[in-house]
Amino acid sequence: MSTLIIDNASIGRPASYGNAGHIALEQPTPLASQAVLRGALGRLFAVGGALDFRLRDVAAWGPWALRYLRACHPDATRSGARALGLLLAAAGPAWRSLVQDLSAPDLLIEHGHLLVWESAKAAARGRASWAAADTGSVRIRDLSGDERGTLQARVAVPLADGVAFDGTGQIADVSRLLATLDEVHRSRGGERRGGRVVEVREVEGRPHLTLDDGATLTSDLVVIAGGVGSGALMRRAGHVAPVVAERGYHIEGPAGDWGDLPPVVFEDRAMIVTRFADRLRASSFVEFAASGSPADPRKWARLRRHAEALGLPLAKADTTTWMGARPTLPDYLPAIGRSRKIGGLIYAFGHQHLGLTLSAVTGELIGDLALGRTPAIDLSPFDIARFERG
Ligand SMILES: Cc1cc2nc3c(=O)[nH]c(=O)nc-3n(C[C@H](O)[C@H](O)[C@H](O)COP(=O)(O)OP(=O)(O)OC[C@H]3O[C@@H](n4cnc5c(N)ncnc54)[C@H](O)[C@@H]3O)c2cc1C
Repeated sequence: MSTLIIDNASIGRPASYGNAGHIALEQPTPLASQAVLRGALGRLFAVGGALDFRLRDVAAWGPWALRYLRACHPDATRSGARALGLLLAAAGPAWRSLVQDLSAPDLLIEHGHLLVWESAKAAARGRASWAAADTGSVRIRDLSGDERGTLQARVAVPLADGVAFDGTGQIADVSRLLATLDEVHRSRGGERRGGRVVEVREVEGRPHLTLDDGATLTSDLVVIAGGVGSGALMRRAGHVAPVVAERGYHIEGPAGDWGDLPPVVFEDRAMIVTRFADRLRASSFVEFAASGSPADPRKWARLRRHAEALGLPLAKADTTTWMGARPTLPDYLPAIGRSRKIGGLIYAFGHQHLGLTLSAVTGELIGDLALGRTPAIDLSPFDIARFERG
């Protein structure tokens, strides 16, 4: 198949660049759940947590929130967990096969991740919550003496407790991953052009695109995989697609003497620290806002304060900052499937906090749909038409 990627270059560095690089196979339960809802107040930005709502943008997330509340019904969470669990179970093998195909096996590092607490109280609460959680194929164990010693030697605060997750991993360098994907796509004859798609409609049974520069294109197949930007396109195509921008922030600086530690979650600070080549990235925050609204600099300031308190190497240098949006649907399941409104239209978006983790398996499923093969996973839970009901 000949392929053309159309990407709105003015967005610059999307979530697929700015994420924490964590292959998070330990999170099969969707965040649309009673448990998450119950803990929301304690996680608010105003009381030191990571969760925030930009009140001026209530029109962007208010209707989404009403659907979210409905999706928190225990029956919905249970069926969501079954569906997400199947995707996550296939995500690890899909990643292994993708990095082989890219001839870059070192892009995937399967060294698990660590999670630490700085107070005994937080540790007791955290351990209880992880003990009750479904972590799929991932096993949680106590930190070994070595792991604990190495980690403690790198941070300036005493660590009360911690656990290791076996079976997760990270992408060695997200920027290199994006460059490699692009290079391999081109080397196999794929093309790419800048531009914003403003409309997809059906012309003589085939999808027809209009771009913001007035260009039009007709193709046998079109895949909408535009993160948060997918919502507007899908709605123009006649779908109900309530995707919201769940924005996150990172700061990044030199890795210094961090060593080859796997990603470390500082759970009391709701922050994950990941090494990418010679850089260290600290990421956090779940901010519900309109995707085009200005960033909130208080979030970078708080990340800097955490980095300084922990004595992270990146705190000692000028850091770069980034903000971008996770594309999230109210039930925290992605939308993957074939449109019933427009012939030849396929969609893949709404991968929330797990978009990097699920990208390789989503690619495989889209490949199946494009080639008319039956996908290896039942895609009915991910059908966008689920939002038309009720
Ligand atoms: C702080 C943070 C940390 C994260 N950490 C992790 C993690 O550790 N592990 C994990 O699995 N996930 C993580 N995620 C989630 C993950 O990054 C996202 O789910 C994923 O990147 C979404 O990918 P996407 O391709 O759907 O969207 P994006 O990465 O947003 O890409 C969408 C692309 O579509 C283009 N586009 C949009 N609309 C149009 C249009 N109309 N016309 C043309 N082009 C268009 C944009 O330019 C963009 O390039 C994190 C997210 C954040 C914010």
